[in-house]
Amino acid sequence: MFSEEIVNHKRGKDGASLVYPVFSRRSGGLSLGINLFPDRKRCNFDCLYCEVAKTVSCATFDLRHLDCALEDFFERRYHEYWAAVPIMDICISGDGEPTLSPHLEKALELCADYRRRYARMAGSSELVLITNSTGFLDQHVSALLTRSVEAEGLKIWAKLDSGTQEGFSALSRSDYRLEDMVDGIGRFALKQPIILQTMLCRLNGRAPGEKEVAAYAAILRALLSRKAKIEAVQLYTVARPPADPVVQALSDVEILEYAARLSTRIEDGPPVLLFGRDGAIRAART
Ligand code: SF4
Repeated sequence: MFSEEIVNHKRGKDGASLVYPVFSRRSGGLSLGINLFPDRKRCNFDCLYCEVAKTVSCATFDLRHLDCALEDFFERRYHEYWAAVPIMDICISGDGEPTLSPHLEKALELCADYRRRYARMAGSSELVLITNSTGFLDQHVSALLTRSVEAEGLKIWAKLDSGTQEGFSALSRSDYRLEDMVDGIGRFALKQPIILQTMLCRLNGRAPGEKEVAAYAAILRALLSRKAKIEAVQLYTVARPPADPVVQALSDVEILEYAARLSTRIEDGPPVLLFGRDGAIRAART
């Protein structure tokens, strides 16, 4: 079973495949990644810990190509390489920020359609979108995501990496204001559920300190008091060596300590899911 396809997490020839199955340490099953940017990375963040290569390919995204790649996966690749592994999710993330793609809505519809057509293999999988949360600042993107949540039960994993402007700017290397990001998350999550995803890492040798935890907890409390539907908080760290060596993974103990410090500041919060370098640590409650 552990063919080259599985071991190398390949995204196809020249890294340009639109459909890339990955064994997920988080879910213990198969995550079927969908890449909307096979030609080159497109993102409005430039995260220090980003693992997307800045290579350029002549491949282009086309819905017909995605259709063919999904059909090939469900008709052939799954049986050839993955048949014993449950499909846990079909996940739109890929080489950049998916809400920047003009093809996002059609791609979501196509993935949902394949999930229905191949229900025997993928019927219980989740349709997931991983976003850096900037799409919530755009009303058209928010409306599109709302439609997909309501029609297909789309699960949205929304990035919120820091509770301070300083930490957010340092990690995202963007000009976005943290205040705007939190407001966008809050407005969207007022109506639709999201899962917050937060990267914990050592930056220039320093792990997140008390100020960072307190600020993050204050934002979480403010979102919850606005009745934001935050289903869970995922705290995770870098799993593979990032491109920039100023970023380093936290140990499981450090992640557990961060979660414990968070839990003392939040009452009745959502479940907190912890992921270290080697996978799930354990679930906790704030
Ligand atoms: S938001 Fe994601 S794709 Fe964009 S730079 Fe950050 S980690 Fe990379």
